[in-house]
Amino acid sequence: MEELNPFKIAQEQLDNAAKIMGLDAQVQKLLREPMQTVVVNFPVKLDNGKTETFTGFRVLYNNARGPGKGGIRFHPGETLDTVKALSSWMTWKCALSGIPFGGAKGGVICDPKNLSVSELERLSRAYIRAIGKFIGPKVDVPAPDVYTTPQIMAWMMDEYSKLAGQNEFGVITGKPLEIWGSEGRFNSTAMGAMYVLREAAKRAGIDLKKARVAIQGFGNAGKFAFDLVTKLFGSKVVAISDSEGGVYSEDGLDYNELSNIKEKTGSVENYTKGKKITNEELIESKVDILIPAAIENQITGANAQKVSAKIVLELANGPVTPDADKILFKNGVIDLPDFLVNAGGVIVSYFEWAQNAQNYYWTQEEVYERLDGLITKSFNDVMKTQQDYKSKGTKITLRDAAYIIALQRVADAMKTRGWY
Ligand code: GLU
Repeated sequence: MEELNPFKIAQEQLDNAAKIMGLDAQVQKLLREPMQTVVVNFPVKLDNGKTETFTGFRVLYNNARGPGKGGIRFHPGETLDTVKALSSWMTWKCALSGIPFGGAKGGVICDPKNLSVSELERLSRAYIRAIGKFIGPKVDVPAPDVYTTPQIMAWMMDEYSKLAGQNEFGVITGKPLEIWGSEGRFNSTAMGAMYVLREAAKRAGIDLKKARVAIQGFGNAGKFAFDLVTKLFGSKVVAISDSEGGVYSEDGLDYNELSNIKEKTGSVENYTKGKKITNEELIESKVDILIPAAIENQITGANAQKVSAKIVLELANGPVTPDADKILFKNGVIDLPDFLVNAGGVIVSYFEWAQNAQNYYWTQEEVYERLDGLITKSFNDVMKTQQDYKSKGTKITLRDAAYIIALQRVADAMKTRGWY
């Protein structure tokens, strides 16, 4: 049976790349584990008057290149190992993107679907009080992730500012615009992925106008990917799903109708102009482009053989396991790795943080143009690294190539600082 512990997977990915590039053993050991792991248990008053204890995490994986950076997830299935894995992927994501941050991640074990708005606010504030000593604009800067929103970031920034005794807008990114979030941040994860898709399709000779697309997930990433892939390229989204289930329609699905249905009923599976499908069927659907945009471990050794897409655009974190990597590679599927594809979120988070530090704000056009510049460069760097190894006779995946670049950058920073 394949190992599905995300942290073990992250370590395995790192070990693979370290071996290919001949990374110094001391550095590899340093980079296999997070620098700091914080676990907190804190009370939250519920609407019924009772108090519930929640467990939360904040992991700072590495800060050689800058403050920690990474989102906060509110998820009933959250584990410390998942947060550790996600914090390592953030480290590689920031390094590959060339932005001045290390990597971090946070999470709270909770089901936001079962919490009222005021409970959610109290929980968000209590979590920040609990981890307050470990974050800060120059220390570790959180952001949204699975089931967390700009509103939640606003409460968290407010709570941190109270602890600090002054406004600290730069402590958190992904904030609403009225309290100095960045233009373009709301769909930046998906927008970045579109720039990567544009470049990959160009190289592979795929006409995106004629492309059929399946998207797993209709949240912070998947929803906007749906909107953008149709608007920017004219591609047809034929399959969509969320945690409840999905729908498929040969003629293409309608974004506005799906958004309304999701809002009214809680799930895209209630869309009536299509055939109901499961999340497993979505992965195997006959499409040109498959976009896993939900959570980790969705394409595994058990179903990778059935992926018929030419391109897998990893918009989620960790959606493809190492066993699946091997199968996709063997089958010639262009699998664009997560920390390249979904870096748009953290890249615009970096812009938000920089704008907060300067108190000088950019237009949406400026944001997208700079995002395009950075992520297209990352894509080209990854392709070039794969090509360089190929010309030396070693075939490596795009994930290996991305890891090699990121590990080298973090290792160089640590070396220059005198850490080894
Ligand atoms: N949660 C997003 C990610 O996984 C964004 C992180 C950030 O903006 O710090 O990349």
